[in-house]
Amino acid sequence: MAIGGMAVTDVVRESGTPVMMLDESHVRAAARSYTDAYAATGADTAVYYAGKAFLATTVAKWLQAEGVRIDVCTRGELEIAVRAGIPGADILFHGNNKSESEIARALELGVGRFVLDSFQEIARVAALAADAGVTAQCLIRVTVGVEAHTHEFIATAHEDQKFGLALSDGSAREAVHRVSTLPSLELLGLHSHIGSQIFDPAGFEVAARRLVGFAGELAVDGIEVTELNLGGGMGIAYTSADDPLDLFRMADAIVEIVRKECEAADIPVPRIAVEPGRAIIGPAGVTLYTVGTIKPVELDNGIVRTFVSIDGGMSDNIRTALYDAEYTVTVANRVSDAEAMLCRVVGKHCESGDIVVRDCWLPADLAPGDLLAVAATGAYCRSMASNYNQLPRPGVMAVADGRLSTVLRAETLDDLLALDPGA
Ligand SMILES: *Cc1c(COP(=O)(O)O)cnc(C)c1O
Repeated sequence: MAIGGMAVTDVVRESGTPVMMLDESHVRAAARSYTDAYAATGADTAVYYAGKAFLATTVAKWLQAEGVRIDVCTRGELEIAVRAGIPGADILFHGNNKSESEIARALELGVGRFVLDSFQEIARVAALAADAGVTAQCLIRVTVGVEAHTHEFIATAHEDQKFGLALSDGSAREAVHRVSTLPSLELLGLHSHIGSQIFDPAGFEVAARRLVGFAGELAVDGIEVTELNLGGGMGIAYTSADDPLDLFRMADAIVEIVRKECEAADIPVPRIAVEPGRAIIGPAGVTLYTVGTIKPVELDNGIVRTFVSIDGGMSDNIRTALYDAEYTVTVANRVSDAEAMLCRVVGKHCESGDIVVRDCWLPADLAPGDLLAVAATGAYCRSMASNYNQLPRPGVMAVADGRLSTVLRAETLDDLLALDPGA
C-alpha cells in the first residue's frame, strides 16, 4: 500500500507504529471543494474548519492556504491556530463554557467571532470586552430543535442539552435582545450545529428554515442578522455501506432554502457560514498498526472469530468503543491471496471493549508483524487520544508527493514520565 506516493512500509520504518498518515493533497482537495461548492452558489459564504476534529499548525496552514478559516473551542485550539499564523479575524470561538482567561486571550488576539452560548456568557464576554476597550463580534448559538446523526434526524424536543439558547421557549430571542443592549458586543448573527456524521440533508434544511424564520422575527424587532452559521456535521464514508451527501448539491440546497426563506421574510440574504470538521480531515487519515497476538475463538454457532491484537487501540481510536463506529481495515505490508477469516481488531488495553474494528475479514495467513491500515481515521481519533495504560500517543506524519514530514511527533515514555515529579 502506498499513500501520497509513499509505501507505508517505508513510512513505518521511519516512524514506527502506531502512526497516523495524513495525505496532504487529500486534505487540501477536501477543503477546496468546500470553498468551491459554496462559492459556486454565488452567495456570500465562509467555511470554517472545526479544529476539534484534528488540529496542528501544519494542517491549519494547509487550510488557510485553501481559503478556510478555523473554529476553536479552547485556549489550546486557539493557540495552535495562532501559532499557525491564522489571523484572529479568521478564528471563530465557540463552546459552552469558555473561561474568563480564554475569553480575555481571544479578545486580545482579536478573534473575529464569539459564539455566545448562554446568558451568563453574554454577560461575561460583554464585561471582559468592555474592560479591554474592544467590541466583540458575536453570533448567538441557537438550538433549533433539530438533532441529526447519521441517517436520521429528529425535528422536535432536542433543546434538552447543554449547548445553546432555544428558539422554542424564547430564550434565543431574549439573548439577541440582551446582546443588542450591550455596547461592547456587536451581534453579527446566528449559529446552529445540529449533529455529526449526517447523511440526510433534511436536518440541515429544517435548521436553515427555522434560523431564517427567526431572523425574520428579529427584523421586525429592528435587529439585522448579517451572518448565519449552519455548523458542521457532513458525514463521510467509513465503510462501503456509507453514502455521503454530494457537497455541491448540498451547498446548492442550503443556499437555495436560505434565499427562498429570506425572500418570504423580506430580509436580505445573510452571509452563510459552515463548519466542517470530519469531512475535511477524516478521509485523509489512515492509521497503521503492527499485528501482535492473534487468537481464534470458536463461537457457539461454530463460527470462528479471530481476535487480532494491534499495538494501539482505544487510546488512539476511541470512536468504536464510544459510538459503535465502523471502520475499514486491510493488510498494508503485502498482498495475500489466502482465504478470508472473520476477525475483530482489538487494542492492547485492559478493557474487553477495547475494539478498533468490530467485524472485518482479513487473510487467514495474517501473522504477527504484519501491518494493518485502518482507513478514515483523520477526524476524532488523534484529537481524542489518551494515555490510557501509559501508552504514549502516536505521531502524525504528512505525506505529499512521496515526501514524509512530521505533523505531530510521537510521544515517548520520557514525555509521560516527565509529568510525574517522583518518577
Ligand atoms: C463538532 C462541531 C463541528 C464539526 O462537526 P463535524 O461533524 O466534524 O463536521 C462544527 N461546529 C461545531 C459547533 C461543532 O461542535
